[in-house]
Amino acid sequence: MYDITVIHGDGIGKEVMEAALHVLGALDIEFNYKKAHAGNECFKSKGTTLPDETIKEAKKADATLFGAVTTVPGQKSAIITLRKALDLYVNIRPVKSYSGVNSLFNDIDFVILRENTEGLYSGIEEETEEGATALRVITRRASERICKFAFEYAKITGRKKVTAVHKANVLKKTDGLFRDTFYRVARNYSNIDTDDLYVDATAMFFITNPYMFDVIVTTNLFGDILSDEGAGLVGGLGLIPSANIGENYGLFEPVHGSAPNIAGKGIANPSAMILSSVMMLNYLKEYDAAQMVENALTEVLNEGKIVTNDLGGNSSTMEMANEVIKKMEL
Ligand code: ATP
Repeated sequence: MYDITVIHGDGIGKEVMEAALHVLGALDIEFNYKKAHAGNECFKSKGTTLPDETIKEAKKADATLFGAVTTVPGQKSAIITLRKALDLYVNIRPVKSYSGVNSLFNDIDFVILRENTEGLYSGIEEETEEGATALRVITRRASERICKFAFEYAKITGRKKVTAVHKANVLKKTDGLFRDTFYRVARNYSNIDTDDLYVDATAMFFITNPYMFDVIVTTNLFGDILSDEGAGLVGGLGLIPSANIGENYGLFEPVHGSAPNIAGKGIANPSAMILSSVMMLNYLKEYDAAQMVENALTEVLNEGKIVTNDLGGNSSTMEMANEVIKKMEL
């Protein structure tokens, strides 16, 4: 049995979460769910976007599922605060195409590992006389652990190559350190190919030759931008899951936000949340169950019949989740 903290959040976060829990409920695995609060509705009722209680629950659980939250300007971001509180230092973003889904390329399958705790998102900003500055922090420790994670990840998932993405020709000290650390860590993984690329070239190769990538490891801002470019390559936000992993905790969330424009209508695509649950199952080492859910969803996407509006269908969120369950070999 697994203890799972469930944070529905706002808008479609609540709807896609219900769909994913419905799919997980069909598995022969016992989950003990503990609901916790975060986001804008939480702010309205509790005066904070992330109560301490939620952090406590996430720390107690075997894993956390996070739907999506609306972050009103000026409010503390619940997800960024949670990532920091749990020291979730790596953000895993698969970039994978499904044949039934309109996508720029077919058969794309690579993964972006983004450092989640420092870089230009360290949050150290200062107003100056001329304007403002932001500090880009790259530490040896954080670079080493993300690079090590990347090679371990490649080893476990059977991937062949890890590419470090940086801009060391301009950011000589910070990204020089990142690149050097990458190659130092790589020495312990002689069976895995390595290379490194500048981030601007990488952005271009995503469009001209995405098949050259297998595992990408990069710093925070570059990873953020490339991940969204990756989402664009393979059919949009409704499909892209993510995992946030640290030494002790794992949190799984779709890349999309709360989409207020379609919230409450029951038409949100549940795929990203279901695939985030698949990532959670892998994290819990429930590999067979993970494969079963992913295969079932892939079949639903490939058939393209019982799918939501954004995928060209007219089924509801729950109808699509039910179709996934139907395809599972239970
Ligand atoms: P937030 O402010 O919470 O980030 P947002 O609407 O600005 O919300 P997203 O929710 O990430 O940003 O998505 C942008 C648009 O993409 C949405 O308005 C919606 O039209 C579409 N979209 C995102 N996720 C889904 C989904 N799961 N199913 C269908 N459409 C989606």
